[in-house]
Amino acid sequence: MSIAPRPSRPDAPPPPEGLTLRAFLGVFRYSRHAVELVWSTNRTLTAVLASLTLLAGVLPVSAAYVGGRIVDAVVGAMRSGGRGLHWVIALVVLEGLLMAALAAAQRGLSLARSLLRVQLGQRVNEMILEKAVTLELEHFEDSEFYDKLTRARREASTRPLSLVTRTFALAQHGISLISFAVMLAAFSPWAVLALLAAGLPAFIAEAKFSGDAFRLFRWRSPETRMQTYLETVLAREDYAKEVKLYGLGPRLLGRYRDIFQRLYRADRALTLRRGAWGLLLGLLATGTLYAAYLWIALSAVRRLITLGEMTMYLAAFRQGQAAVSAMLGAIGGMYEDNLYLSTLYEYLDTYVPPPPGALRQGPQPHDGIRFEDVSFAYPGAEEPALEHITLHLRAGQSLALVGENGSGKTTLIKLLTRLYAPTAGRILLDGADLAEWDAQRLRERIGVIFQDFARYQLPVGHNIGAGDVQAFEDEARWRKAAAQGRASEFIESLPAGYHTQLGKWFQDGRELSGGQWQKVALSRALMRTSADVLVLDEPTAAMDAQAEAEVFERVRQLARERMTILISHRFSTVRMADQIVVLEHGRILEQGSHEQLMRADGLYARLFGLQARGYR
Ligand code: ADP
Repeated sequence: MSIAPRPSRPDAPPPPEGLTLRAFLGVFRYSRHAVELVWSTNRTLTAVLASLTLLAGVLPVSAAYVGGRIVDAVVGAMRSGGRGLHWVIALVVLEGLLMAALAAAQRGLSLARSLLRVQLGQRVNEMILEKAVTLELEHFEDSEFYDKLTRARREASTRPLSLVTRTFALAQHGISLISFAVMLAAFSPWAVLALLAAGLPAFIAEAKFSGDAFRLFRWRSPETRMQTYLETVLAREDYAKEVKLYGLGPRLLGRYRDIFQRLYRADRALTLRRGAWGLLLGLLATGTLYAAYLWIALSAVRRLITLGEMTMYLAAFRQGQAAVSAMLGAIGGMYEDNLYLSTLYEYLDTYVPPPPGALRQGPQPHDGIRFEDVSFAYPGAEEPALEHITLHLRAGQSLALVGENGSGKTTLIKLLTRLYAPTAGRILLDGADLAEWDAQRLRERIGVIFQDFARYQLPVGHNIGAGDVQAFEDEARWRKAAAQGRASEFIESLPAGYHTQLGKWFQDGRELSGGQWQKVALSRALMRTSADVLVLDEPTAAMDAQAEAEVFERVRQLARERMTILISHRFSTVRMADQIVVLEHGRILEQGSHEQLMRADGLYARLFGLQARGYR
């Protein structure tokens, strides 16, 4: 269950690649993915888009051709004293029709594009969220991975559109360019060569600079991430309180500005280089255009071509060049699409190991939970968070974990709930290794409230119902759980009872006090009536000592077969547990019942004495 190693970040920006073919093609790296994505989203619309693109690509050349014929027909009619007028009329009508068809095709293109954009945005978002559901907790705690996820999500509704637009614009102008080139070939293959030769350097340069921009952007993504984070802190309701009271605003804003300045400098250098080259190569293209102009005009003067042909070739050359610069524009923006797609696909391709086990029942049904010499280190951490943990909790027993902050209590719970796998040793439930258990079954058996439990911005009822997805909407069950979690009293006094919206994000949302939220969270855990392991990770810290002891007592009595694991700093509650484990620096320091530990007269006895004195 490990994530691909992170690439180490160099201290200097990546050296720009030379004008290699790879650098040139780099900008098209994800175009295949883009086309597949669009195609699989809506085949009909994609087919329409493709045919209209083709049409919009070839219509200009036909119009230019007809334009040339019109001039020749007019010259012919003038010479023959008006004969052939009907031919002129027919050609003009034809050109009008062609232009109308072109306008219609462009209209249709933008229509198809906007329809596709909406669908694609939704589709990409769904893909991102579907993947998110399968991810391990570990992924969410990996900063680079998390960055990928947020970036992919943030731009999911805009990027796909630009991707479609640019890919198809490139194709459309490519088709135009080719068709103009074919037309020009009739005049002279050299003219075709001149057209392409004038456009090619600009084309390559644009692709190269896009590639550089792509690399630059990826390289500095930690800075951008910090900027995004600062934006969140400065502009979100849950931070507003502290930012205001501690006066953090200007300081964080200053940091935000500094990052911008640093990034801007690198950006400016690239933009200037890009602009200078663009200007130079653009001049080359204009020069070529006018050289060709002269050449074509001279050919007409020398009667090598007709006036109509001159018009036609000039149009071909001019529009051919316009197509080249449109293609450049499309390529220029493609690096951003590439960037987006690379993030998206790296995220979507993240390997998530399939849940291994299939066991629904253990070989020793009432054996309970056993930790056998379990050690664990967080990915990338040097110090282990837990070392050589051995303990046994029988069915129906309760266990309290005691220890300083950072001693490993929550980590132990994360291992038990299989959010992480031990680095060494085994954890057994009813005689079978946790890894062998069916993931779904295991989850059904364990109800947990973490210290940092979720506060869903949903109605109170759903906040409780979330504890058992099957009973998410079951009001009778909410009420029962709320009664057990001592929450029913305050919920019933809320304006809409169990249907009161919580949180500030939505209209009429009510904010609860810390203790009330804890009661809601506790009730949520109690929704899991099928769970025979209930874990309470300091769920009652915001309640008073009396209430905490009552809750714990009640939870213990709820089911005789249920195992309860409690993390608490209150010894008045802890002492009620059948078994107490004292952790220090990830190791078990003392273990036993309250009486045994008091008799041993170690750390537990000392801490207990300290607290008890405080109450006297
Ligand atoms: P407790 O619950 O006893 O306060 P924890 O189990 O949360 O302690 O933490 C134990 C140790 O593991 C601490 O040193 C903490 O810094 C580290 N730790 C906790 N969570 C993570 C994490 N997600 N990634 C890396 N280290 C962590």
